[in-house]
Amino acid sequence: MQAELPTQMHGSFDDTAHVPPRFGSATRFIRYHVSRWSWQFAAILILVLGAAGCAVGSQYVLKLLVDAMAGPRDLSRGLIGVLALFLACMAGESASWRLLGWMVCRTTVGIGVELRLDLFHCLSGQSIGYFAENLAGSLGQRITGTAGNFGALTNTVVWRTLPPTIDVLGAIIIFATIDGFMSVGLGVSVLAVTAGLIAFGQRGKPLHGVYSGEAAQTSGDLVDTISNMWTVKAFSARRREWQRHEIRFRQEAEAQRRSWNFLEKTRALHDVALLIMAGTMVSWAVVLWSRGHATSGDVVIVFTLTFRILHSSKDLALSLVDMAQYIGFIDDTLAVIGQARAVHDEPDAASLVCSGGEIEFRGVSFGYGQRRRALRSIDLVIPAGQKVGIVGPSGAGKSTLTHLIQRLHDVTEGEILIDGQPIAAVRQDSLRAALAVVPQEISLLHRSVMENIRFARPSASDEEVHAAARAANCDLFIQGLPRGYDTIVGERGAKLSGGQRQRVGIARAFLKDAPIVILDEATSALDTESEMKVQRTLTRLLRGRTVVAVAHRLSTLSDFDRILVVDEGRIVEDGTAEELLRRAGVFARMWRLQAEGLSADDLINAA
Ligand code: ATP
Repeated sequence: MQAELPTQMHGSFDDTAHVPPRFGSATRFIRYHVSRWSWQFAAILILVLGAAGCAVGSQYVLKLLVDAMAGPRDLSRGLIGVLALFLACMAGESASWRLLGWMVCRTTVGIGVELRLDLFHCLSGQSIGYFAENLAGSLGQRITGTAGNFGALTNTVVWRTLPPTIDVLGAIIIFATIDGFMSVGLGVSVLAVTAGLIAFGQRGKPLHGVYSGEAAQTSGDLVDTISNMWTVKAFSARRREWQRHEIRFRQEAEAQRRSWNFLEKTRALHDVALLIMAGTMVSWAVVLWSRGHATSGDVVIVFTLTFRILHSSKDLALSLVDMAQYIGFIDDTLAVIGQARAVHDEPDAASLVCSGGEIEFRGVSFGYGQRRRALRSIDLVIPAGQKVGIVGPSGAGKSTLTHLIQRLHDVTEGEILIDGQPIAAVRQDSLRAALAVVPQEISLLHRSVMENIRFARPSASDEEVHAAARAANCDLFIQGLPRGYDTIVGERGAKLSGGQRQRVGIARAFLKDAPIVILDEATSALDTESEMKVQRTLTRLLRGRTVVAVAHRLSTLSDFDRILVVDEGRIVEDGTAEELLRRAGVFARMWRLQAEGLSADDLINAA
């Protein structure tokens, strides 16, 4: 059964213009999420205080019991009362720990869901360029890892940091009832040891940061190789890849070893400091007893509390350093996922109102990063309902032009308008709702064919999905799949052929029913017969819409109103196919070259 999706998250699924401030640092991010679960964390704190308080209390009651038993040997009411108090403390401690376990489980699991959703929300708002630069596996590992690290951080605080701290505080109070100097001595030495460890722990922070960065990179790299297994096999690269990963794993292991060794050093330092402290306290109590300044019960409680501190805080040093490691990981993740968005909505961005679908480029230039301009000074108006074909040599900037209409990148200069509205000023979701895109590489989700087509319009009925599939000429092959429309298509659609994937992509475009259609070599993976069939159905899809179609096979553009020839980032020719052929320029040359190599089918189609 499918879980119901929340309709509300963090107020609402607003596509915040900039990355929310909580993504600035781990402490801010943690504070934000803890505040959303404030009463659960308050309950956790009360339960820890209760459990650890009962534990310290039972030690004190033990002292009272020993002192009472040092007197006359009878079962006085006082002795029975102390015994009952001891048992009550033990029962209270036990019940508090169990309740605490339940509460921590509920809270960390629940918060883990919210954290991952929050990170995914932020990540999915990043521009397409960001995903070209960051490995998918590494991003996934960071999101899951952050939830895991947050849970580990909560557990460390609850089980390994707070209880020994409360033990120490309890011991300081109880020791004060025996000897003031002893209490001050304990307080000062605990403070000194803790401060020393925190200062020492800070020095390990860069080591932990390097390790978490290496771990994410290694895991992303591994996922990248696994998802490109065809290439690995096709180029007999298993050994090479094995060796490459060996180097990476060893690098990561080295970073892990350094981070871990640092923890071990901290632990050793802590052990020595605690031993000296415990030895001093115990000897002090015995000396006090020998001089008659302390009772047997006092000696018992100094011994038990000292050993309790010694035992429970053995992990305290490590837990402090562990906490720094978890926070380092979260910081590292936020630096990657929470980086400023290259393409973002303005806070007051309105929705695009698409009346006809006119597209206008005004002095548009664009470059990927610092590289040479991919598009230069483009001035172009595509009236609503016009069908424009874009042709040109490979690398000329054709796909880039279609990407800019979708605002996958922001232009470097100039602006793009749809129906008179600058696309940079409207919400990205509303812009993309007006566009149906069939890209060069159709990437399908690892879901059923039905879900993949319906992705274009989740509210579409089964009949509407079937109609779109029929229109895209893919109904027949889908019926032939082992489970028909319920067949899972494999990762990125690996179980379908390139042509089948493209037809599913076209079916999606049919279903979306948007006023502007962008085709980026939408039929390039089809054989001639399928292409002719799809072309006929595409004619239906394109009717009455604004169309921008990139094509290498010029024959597919014979019905188009206008052709743009792009070369080295500029529009070098603009006109109908006939005009351009007469002009004897780039288009005419491309046409001639292709005609020489065209099959009979293509020539018939072109005519
Ligand atoms: P083709 O016909 O081969 O698909 P095209 O005309 O569609 O080519 P584009 O994909 O628009 O060409 O690429 C234009 C230029 O921009 C090329 O030089 C390409 O190397 C570069 N380019 C494309 N995408 C990126 C990217 N994500 N990062 C950096 N440079 C890019």
